[in-house]
Amino acid sequence: MRSVIVIGGGISGLAAAWQLRGRADVTVLESHSKVGGKLRTGTIAGIAVDEGAESLMALRPEAVELAAAVGLGDALCDPAQAPTTIWTNGALRPLPAGHVMGVPTDPQALTGTGLLSPEGVARVAAEETLPATPLTEDCSVTDYLSSRFGREAVDRLVEPLLGGVYAGRADRLSLRAAMPRIAALAEQGAPLLPALRRMKAAGAPRSAPVAVQGVVRGTGRFPQAVARSCGARILTGTTARALQWTGNRWRVQAMTADGALTMEADAVILALPAFAAAELLRPHSPLAEADLSAIPHASTAVITMAFSRAQAHFLPEGNGFLVPPVDGHTLKAASFLSNKWSWLDTSSPETFVVRASIGRIGEDELLARPDRHLVRAAIAELHHAVGPMGEPLATRVTRWDRGLPQYGVGHRDRVTRIREAASKLPGLALCGAAYEGVGVAACVATGRTAAHQVLSA
Ligand SMILES: Cc1cc2nc3c(=O)[nH]c(=O)nc-3n(C[C@H](O)[C@H](O)[C@H](O)COP(=O)(O)OP(=O)(O)OC[C@H]3O[C@@H](n4cnc5c(N)ncnc54)[C@H](O)[C@@H]3O)c2cc1C
Repeated sequence: MRSVIVIGGGISGLAAAWQLRGRADVTVLESHSKVGGKLRTGTIAGIAVDEGAESLMALRPEAVELAAAVGLGDALCDPAQAPTTIWTNGALRPLPAGHVMGVPTDPQALTGTGLLSPEGVARVAAEETLPATPLTEDCSVTDYLSSRFGREAVDRLVEPLLGGVYAGRADRLSLRAAMPRIAALAEQGAPLLPALRRMKAAGAPRSAPVAVQGVVRGTGRFPQAVARSCGARILTGTTARALQWTGNRWRVQAMTADGALTMEADAVILALPAFAAAELLRPHSPLAEADLSAIPHASTAVITMAFSRAQAHFLPEGNGFLVPPVDGHTLKAASFLSNKWSWLDTSSPETFVVRASIGRIGEDELLARPDRHLVRAAIAELHHAVGPMGEPLATRVTRWDRGLPQYGVGHRDRVTRIREAASKLPGLALCGAAYEGVGVAACVATGRTAAHQVLSA
């Protein structure tokens, strides 16, 4: 059997290892003490909570299929049904159903929501009367969508969703890479509103935020289950430092707590954030290294707070809210986990758990503040948004430094160049969040593809 070293034990690398089971002798190297990367479950006040990703996209099959295959089928659960809510213009305002990443399909449904001014709603409605502007080359989300729907709609409807998924900003994210379904319609050149309505009527995927599933007792169980079932040798606490090509095999030099480790294999899969893959590829492909290094990353912080139901002055309804940066708040989003996930509510009925997120691309100064400042800001804004909840019993701050790659304008061409350059390196494949989607399902898909690439090389 071919031997394969997978570098990076996040969900992308583990998905690759799973795909290779029985077909290759696989070793996974992971620098942390546990596998999982951004899928990590911790505890607060004795309750299991996700500190990174909390849901799996259910509209595309890869993640939920893999979860079921590794024995978590019965643990997959739906969030409570509730509209996506935006905290804007001084109140929590539900986004009308039918939107696609915040892009409305029914302008009339926006009337009276307070999300947009009457002029803003009229500007959205006018989209179908505008001359067609076919998308011929990539541009930012803001550039295209504000020309069609007006700036207000982008600022208050689209921007908060992009902040939630990418920790990104509409004026920097690529329409083609960050909103591919909208871009595909834009390429056809017809007005978007009728095209989106036709897409919905044809049963095309609903808007992303409602079409997700969680895992009972934490999404962090998912990578652990894949690691247990994939049959690979998993070396945690092992950081790959250098890659060498010996002429017919790859040699990996790694560091562990016990010292240096050298291993060889027929093939290598780099399942790493772009900047970490760039380091290892520097001696082998300056082209890939340059493009990987040029992918920006946003840092974020997740602030989890446990409130006593008995002592709280007030408990909010719904699943949480997203916040547009245009309103100048510190919070990016808040999830009311105890409302959203029934397993959490059932397992700890006396506690109400809230997860707040802070930090978009370009907000490094904000994130440089100490944990206690972020906690105070999160509590103060939460009270402002929903009402006086009182002080939490416990708080936990999880920082994700350079946690989310940003798909800037031209990202898809960049990825094509990276993949072309990597294909010239025998037995080497790349997977992870940097390429074709940051969501867990997209990451699983890249892991599968990388496994097929090294098997067929
Ligand atoms: C706060 C947050 C919330 C999110 N929420 C969601 C969500 O709800 N739903 C969703 O679909 N997506 C979500 N995402 C995105 C998604 O979780 C990630 O894009 C995805 O998990 C990335 O997986 P990965 O395996 O590609 O990378 P990672 O998870 O980053 O894994 C890479 C691994 O490589 C290891 N590593 C790095 N360098 C080395 C080295 N030199 N040697 C060995 N190991 C190394 C790291 O320790 C890490 O474990 C979220 C992301 C963040 C940050």
